[in-house]
Amino acid sequence: MKKRAIVLLSGGLDSATCLAVAQRDGFECYTLSFDYGQRHKCELQASEKLAAAMGAVEHKTFKLDLRQWGGSALTDDNIAVPDGGGAGIPVTYVPARNLIFLSLATAWGEVLGAHDIFIGVNSVDYSGYPDCRAGFIAAFAEAARRGTCAVDENWHWSIHTPLQNLSKAEIIQLGTSLKVDYSLTTSCYNPDQAGRSCGKCDSCLLRHQGFIDAGVADPTVYQQ
Ligand code: ZN
Repeated sequence: MKKRAIVLLSGGLDSATCLAVAQRDGFECYTLSFDYGQRHKCELQASEKLAAAMGAVEHKTFKLDLRQWGGSALTDDNIAVPDGGGAGIPVTYVPARNLIFLSLATAWGEVLGAHDIFIGVNSVDYSGYPDCRAGFIAAFAEAARRGTCAVDENWHWSIHTPLQNLSKAEIIQLGTSLKVDYSLTTSCYNPDQAGRSCGKCDSCLLRHQGFIDAGVADPTVYQQ
């Protein structure tokens, strides 16, 4: 019997690649997206399409409203999405987002008997978010073990971060080798109503440069 895994799917390039890696590694994949009050729902539609196209066993979109307190350019209309550049943790950081998402993934995983979780965090070409770092992931796995039935039943959580040390270009090359259709993914912090990318935000700039460095044609549809 195949082992089950939960794969966090944001609709972006990284998480799509992460799903392809989980499939390659022989897991039966259950994909999980979050409708958390982000500015744009097109990433949720992208996640649904990716899950179906890539053969996930089941896809769930979990609703939780992080707009109740905002505090990020992605969840608060009073904070504008900046163009690329700048030092420090950017305003697109959503407070404790991966801590929340991983907690919910372990909850579903415990129900499914899926003790493997895939998350597309990355320390190389990232925007400096603390909840993408290896130290956090290791500490979370231990906290999850202690806070679930794992502690009494003597098993542990494996939090897989296959993209942790890859550059954006290497991620794109890996995904291309695994036949990921990147035209289904969306990475922009500020897409228009039609879901077209702005081409100017941090996420768009990293993504586009990644395609150039990887020598792969960028299938992203940009606004004029
Ligand atoms: Zn953008």
